Amino acid sequence: MTDDARVMEADPHLSGEEGGWIDLVDGVEVSLRHDVRAGGEQLEAEAALPEAPASLERLVVALRTASSRERLAPRGLPIGFRWEDLLQVEATLTDARPQAAWLKRRLPAETSLRLRAGSRLELRVTFVRRGCLPTSQRARYERSAEHGGRIRVEAFELHVVEHCNLRCAHCCNMSPYLGRRLLSPEEVERQCRLMAQHLAVDVFKIMGGEPLLHPRITEVLRAVRRSGISRAVRLFTNGLRLDRMDEDFWRELDHLTISDYASAPVPPSTLQAAADLARRFDVVLNVKPVATFSEVMRPEREADDRRVQATYDACWLRHRCMVVRDGRFFKCTRAAYAPDFHHRLLADAHAGDAARALEGDGVPLSSPDLGAALLAYLNRSEPLASCRFCYGGDGPLVPHVQLGAADVRAGRLLPVSIAGELP
Ligand code: SF4
Ligand code: SF4
Repeated sequence: MTDDARVMEADPHLSGEEGGWIDLVDGVEVSLRHDVRAGGEQLEAEAALPEAPASLERLVVALRTASSRERLAPRGLPIGFRWEDLLQVEATLTDARPQAAWLKRRLPAETSLRLRAGSRLELRVTFVRRGCLPTSQRARYERSAEHGGRIRVEAFELHVVEHCNLRCAHCCNMSPYLGRRLLSPEEVERQCRLMAQHLAVDVFKIMGGEPLLHPRITEVLRAVRRSGISRAVRLFTNGLRLDRMDEDFWRELDHLTISDYASAPVPPSTLQAAADLARRFDVVLNVKPVATFSEVMRPEREADDRRVQATYDACWLRHRCMVVRDGRFFKCTRAAYAPDFHHRLLADAHAGDAARALEGDGVPLSSPDLGAALLAYLNRSEPLASCRFCYGGDGPLVPHVQLGAADVRAGRLLPVSIAGELP
């Protein structure tokens, strides 16, 4: 995907109270309309193409791109919409059965899909900030009869490798500052089986660090599948070791997300080979070009309780980045790594901050009634101790850059070469 789409003239047919516009993404015209209603903030987007082998995929990529934060910012919308925010999709398909199956595998579990037949492919999608909707499962977590009394969550992840072959500034999981650390397939299976007793997980995410540094990554994938924690397993990678993966690895995957970082791009030949293998092994492939990162950690402690509460209330990460680390369940990865953050980076912490984050931000897996403890924790309305040092899901955007070894040793969040240039 190129990054040269441009926002075109406002479309008079779409102009309304909140206005509409057209974004051209890689030759696909996407019509968009933003609206704020009582039920929450919405974005409608639609695009169409004549039928061709890759048309449906091009439409999905165009809609994802046009709704991203980078694309919406020039329209005065500071926060983007994510694919997980999809409320509904209306699709006009030219070959209904295979195209519908293809599309369903790419939609979040909660998204409604309406289909009709036509002579060209069209997608019309509605995104909603669901945290605002009282009907959202995210408004309150509950035990679900449909899932045998377990708590349904969108996603749960394990960081099977904590170290990485890159050193991205503002890495969510602190990888540049951490030493070599792996979870064995046996440990992964044990943790997944335990959590599967309490959580019904839409998507299980294998993350890092860089998971492809794991010498037994295919066994890890099999261990997750055996545990029954989720029907969908998605692995996230920076793609730089993808050319070393054998066919057994591809056979075990459902979804693969490649973050193609501007500061460490994946060779085009690797991306092409991944596209071919994904087709061959029926893997849902998502290649995400990444030129910017949201700042994660506040360099200074936020002392204002109201601001901390507002950050927590608006934070979508706490619904999509649940993780187990060091024997505790955390609702977000930032809380899971807070002790490392305090230890390696933060000069401004007050005495006791690190201890509070360690003791109060996660649920020990050894809790006597773990299910009840998880439910209360997921529904708690007060912020975590870690929220004082976090921007939440929509921190300031900064260029995606690599840290130098000296930056990491010095505990810097940004390379010294650019830190002074940013506001
Ligand atoms: S690729 Fe970058 S963002 Fe991802 S884990 Fe490694 S250092 Fe962190
Ligand atoms: S620490 Fe708080 S604000 Fe940051 S991701 Fe976690 S819940 Fe969200």
